[in-house]
Amino acid sequence: MEPVLMTSGPYAGRHVLVLQPEPDEHEVFPFLRLPAEIRNMIYSLVLERPGHKLYIYGKNSGVINTLWLRDDGAPRVQQHYSSSLMRVNKQINVESIPYLFSRHTFDFSDSTMMQKFLEHIGPERIQSLVAVHVQKQFRTTMRKAYQLLSPAVSLSELKLFSSLYHPYYNTAFLWPNALLPLVQAWCTEGGRSREDVMSIISMPGAVRGFCDQHGSFCNKQLTVCVQKECAYDEFYKELREEIFKSMDLVEAKKQAIKSGTPVKTRAGRKTKAIDYSGMCGDEDEN
Ligand SMILES: [Zn+2]
Repeated sequence: MEPVLMTSGPYAGRHVLVLQPEPDEHEVFPFLRLPAEIRNMIYSLVLERPGHKLYIYGKNSGVINTLWLRDDGAPRVQQHYSSSLMRVNKQINVESIPYLFSRHTFDFSDSTMMQKFLEHIGPERIQSLVAVHVQKQFRTTMRKAYQLLSPAVSLSELKLFSSLYHPYYNTAFLWPNALLPLVQAWCTEGGRSREDVMSIISMPGAVRGFCDQHGSFCNKQLTVCVQKECAYDEFYKELREEIFKSMDLVEAKKQAIKSGTPVKTRAGRKTKAIDYSGMCGDEDEN
């Protein structure tokens, strides 16, 4: 910027420097030359909503809608929110990801929306997720949806509120199969222990039953009930056992391959390919 010689007015004869608060069209604010601490403060101010969770819902047509809700269920104060800063360039995107994805709970209306959303944001952002809630489960999408969470090795809370959409259908037996790929990924790629992984998963909606004193119990009920507690304990115990059994089976297969023992299928033929993922497709070996 060059000083300009004023030829008229009160500053005539003087050199002045004109500072423009609004940048010219060709001028760009040097955001990336700001110190990292300042950039982080800006990311935080723009992208963080303390005390709020992001509710994700939509239609099967593919539209993904988001809504900020208060964590405590209190009415929400209407606030402008824009994440367009994240789309400025690659560096800003990478730097800002945690401020949206690691600082809030992501609450999905159902497993189908969860699948759509996770496919949309991709593994890099999924990796930053720390808390996920899922309301309804659909049989057609639950397994895929939970498998997509595999990169989220820092997740500390996975809460599944309702069982399958059908309210009277016992779905407990579906869960080991639906969660196995995710638990395996968190153990092998995330380096977590099985117990640690299982301890972050809670499924208040997966257990249904009946108590003489309190009537039927299911998701979202807060009544203190010993029978309900027992039903939950029993459910988690079975879930853990089923998943760990499948994982042991995969481990045994791997060991057998390593030590050169041919693994036979039930039909007695040698396997021609090893499935290191432990599970593939929807075939059920039982
Ligand atoms: Zn009871």
